[in-house]
Amino acid sequence: MAEPLRAPASAHPLLRALILLGAPGAGKGTQAREVARLYDVPHLSTGDMFREHVAKGTELGSRAKPIMESGKLVPDEIVLGMVEERVARKDCAAGFVLDGFPRTLPQAERLEEILSCLPLRRALAVNLLVDDEAVVRRIAARRTCKSCGAIYSAGEKMPRVAGKCDVCGGTVVQRPDDREEVVRQRLATYHEQTRPVVEFYRRRGQLLELDGSNAIATVQRDLFALLERV
Ligand code: AMP
Repeated sequence: MAEPLRAPASAHPLLRALILLGAPGAGKGTQAREVARLYDVPHLSTGDMFREHVAKGTELGSRAKPIMESGKLVPDEIVLGMVEERVARKDCAAGFVLDGFPRTLPQAERLEEILSCLPLRRALAVNLLVDDEAVVRRIAARRTCKSCGAIYSAGEKMPRVAGKCDVCGGTVVQRPDDREEVVRQRLATYHEQTRPVVEFYRRRGQLLELDGSNAIATVQRDLFALLERV
C-alpha cells in the first residue's frame, strides 16, 4: 500500500487557525498532522490532549475518561479552558491546526472571541466529508499509538514493526472508544452537536468542503492544493 505523501514545506505562512471538521474517523487527525507539518505550526488535537491527561492520571483525565469511553462530549468549560491555555502559547503565533475542536456551537462561538484577540487572519474551517458506514469501517481498522497519537489503518498504513509506532516506538493499539458500539454513539453525538458547527462556519463564509472518502494520500493532495489556493 502506498505511503501517504510527506508534506513539503509550504511557500506561504499559515498565519491563521485552520479548523479540521468532520465525523469521527473522517481523517481529521491524519490530515491535521500533515498540514501542521506543511506549514510548520502546532497540531492541536483536543482528543490527544485528553488522552494525555488520562495516561498521566490527572484530575482532568479522570473526569474525561468515562465520558470519552461512552462516546459523549466532555463539558465545554473543561475543553475551552484547555484550548485557551494552549493557543496563548508562543508557538501558536504563526497559526495552528485544530483537530477535534470546536465540537459544539458554544465552543465555536468562544473560539471566535479567543481568535479575535490574536493577531491572525480569519480562521478557516475544512469539512472532510465521509458517510457514516465508511466511518464505521474505517474506525474498525484504525490503530493509534498510545504515546504520540500517530494513526495507522489496517490495509492502508500499518507500522513497519507490528504493534510498534514508526514515529516514536510507542505501543500501537485500538483506542477504547474505537469499538463499534462506542463509534455509533460518537456518530450520533457528532450529528446532534457538531453538525451545527459546520453550518456556523458555512454561514460565516469560512467553510471549505472536501471529499474525505478517498485514500489518505489523495485527500492529503487535495487538501494541500485547496489550502495553497486560498
Ligand atoms: P477525538 O480523538 O477527537 O475523536 O476525541 C476523543 C474524545 O475526546 C471525544 O469522543 C470526546 O469525548 C472528547 N473530546 C475531544 N475533543 C472534544 C471537544 N472539542 N469537546 C468535547 N469533547 C471532546
